[in-house]
Amino acid sequence: MGLDITWAVDWVRRSADVISEHRVELITLDREIGDGDHGENMDRGFQAVLPKLDDLPAGSTPGDVLKLVATTLISTVGGAAGPLYGTAYLKGAVAAGSETSLDGSAIAAVLTAARDGIVMRGKAESGDKTMVDAWTPAVDAADAAASNGSDAAAVLAAAAAAAREGAIATEPLVARKGRASYLGERSAGHRDPGAESTALLLQAAADAASA
Ligand code: ADP
Ligand code: MG
Ligand code: MG
Repeated sequence: MGLDITWAVDWVRRSADVISEHRVELITLDREIGDGDHGENMDRGFQAVLPKLDDLPAGSTPGDVLKLVATTLISTVGGAAGPLYGTAYLKGAVAAGSETSLDGSAIAAVLTAARDGIVMRGKAESGDKTMVDAWTPAVDAADAAASNGSDAAAVLAAAAAAAREGAIATEPLVARKGRASYLGERSAGHRDPGAESTALLLQAAADAASA
């Protein structure tokens, strides 16, 4: 079954919940290898989206919701993550187009466009210890699942599981992009906060799809 506006809105609400629940954890991760604001930045952004969901006009599409998230994150999150996630949701919105329902391959295309937007904006490669290290395994898993004919919910479940593994796998890495790169070798032994928030957001997408 395809995922529609109800899923998209539910994804945003669950994202706001999960980011708020993990706010302190994200702050702690960012304090270890950055400036400690990632949890606060992301929580501010998603809380700012919530009231706007009620103003979405009738007939809005999943792409409209992604665009709303994009513009709100760009104007409220700040730091590195604001423009990066903003670009991700914006590119995802373009990929979603004006479709009212997204099937497995459409969801894989949305995730691919989002990841490509982050890479275009931040120029990080895999292994640089950034959110890309959660996004790229997620995209690969989503593509594989979609090629096997999985439905949208299964594609998101595969993406979320891969993002979770990718986030954990950032722990031993030495950061080569963002603030954490200032620490050099001392960045090893800590999980990247942006990879962690990515894993949380994609799990929220999967949970909304299976609800
Ligand atoms: P800031 O570092 O400006 O305080 P945040 O703390 O909100 O911003 O976000 C930090 C996260 O942003 C990092 O954990 C990392 O995942 C991500 N990040 C930073 N620079 C890049 C980049 N060039 N490409 C991809 N992701 C990046
Ligand atoms: Mg920070
Ligand atoms: Mg900052």
